[in-house]
Amino acid sequence: MITGVKLVVQVKLAPDAVQAPALESTLHAANEAACWVSAVSFDRFGLKGSVRELRKLCYGELKARGFGAQAAQHVIKRVADAYTTLRANIKAGNLGPEDSTRRHKAESKPIMFRPDAAHTYDDRCLSWNYDAKTVSIWTLQGRIKNVRFVCSAGTLKQLTGQRQGESDLIQRDGKLFLVATIDIAEPEAFEPKGFIGVDRGITNLATTSDGDNHSGRRLGRYRRWQASKKAELQAKQTHSAKQLLKKRARREARHATHINHKISKTVVAVAQRTERGIALEELRGIRERVTVPRDQRARQSSWPFHQLGAFIAYKAKRAGVPFIEVDPAYTSQRCPRCGHTERANRRTRDHFHCRRCGLAGPADHVAGANIAKRGATAWVFVNMPDPLPA
Ligand SMILES: [Zn+2]
Repeated sequence: MITGVKLVVQVKLAPDAVQAPALESTLHAANEAACWVSAVSFDRFGLKGSVRELRKLCYGELKARGFGAQAAQHVIKRVADAYTTLRANIKAGNLGPEDSTRRHKAESKPIMFRPDAAHTYDDRCLSWNYDAKTVSIWTLQGRIKNVRFVCSAGTLKQLTGQRQGESDLIQRDGKLFLVATIDIAEPEAFEPKGFIGVDRGITNLATTSDGDNHSGRRLGRYRRWQASKKAELQAKQTHSAKQLLKKRARREARHATHINHKISKTVVAVAQRTERGIALEELRGIRERVTVPRDQRARQSSWPFHQLGAFIAYKAKRAGVPFIEVDPAYTSQRCPRCGHTERANRRTRDHFHCRRCGLAGPADHVAGANIAKRGATAWVFVNMPDPLPA
């Protein structure tokens, strides 16, 4: 069986002096329209507007503003989706308890859309010419052809033949990009000869059950440097300082993404070479497990652990490497040799020492071993044929 894995790639647009303002003003108008639809939705339905109802209320006005049928539909859908996501986040407690300021703020006003936020194009509004490296794209000034785009040879190869469905037009730092979805067919997962357990942590961003370490030490220095620069900028309250701060935050996020790509690539390559699967903790484990000194808390919460997990998952899938998520409970306190589980097995953050059998070693490595073990056990259950009816 071949199943698809979805990847997102982006290309930079290189519009000429006539095309650029048309694209830019269309994007801004689409987001202005989204703000308007959002306000209508909020007034009438609170957080519960649906595509069907918003279509009834807003479609006419969007058409009058010059949006085509598809573009109008995309604006409406995006607003409805944004409220669905907000509701899900509230329900999951991501905005804090009912009486939190953050939650109250989110519930008390319509969702806003930045002028440079994404606008969705489907194949009727956007067509790609991969050979010429151009697109033809709908704007409020009509359809414009031969808009050049720039991307790597690898990305172009992926786009050709594998791009599917909708793409987003976005603007960042004044530049326009198209974000496209690639659908990759990947091989069926092989039958693993064991599992590699990956422990995600703060100092060691990832430690495998083989004892391979992907340390965050250099990253720590980088983040501290960034933090001090940030404090400097925050002290100045000028517009340009704020812009610089935003730019820096984006750069920091890009850097984290880069590191996560590197780590996930290495882990998946080792798994593939040794014909093993990869086991990862379900995410809730990371925050509960360790008590972190205050100065490290920022680092902990700002590191995108979730992204690392997502990267490992899709790279594994693409390579046919079995991937499984396991229960994170006690992976740092359990002895992988005798099974004895006690908090005192891990007196300090870095060292594990079993109180019963004496097994000792680096704590992250031990956690990785426990995760690997759990992965192997879980894999058997996941792949067990359904029991016959009694
Ligand atoms: Zn033990």
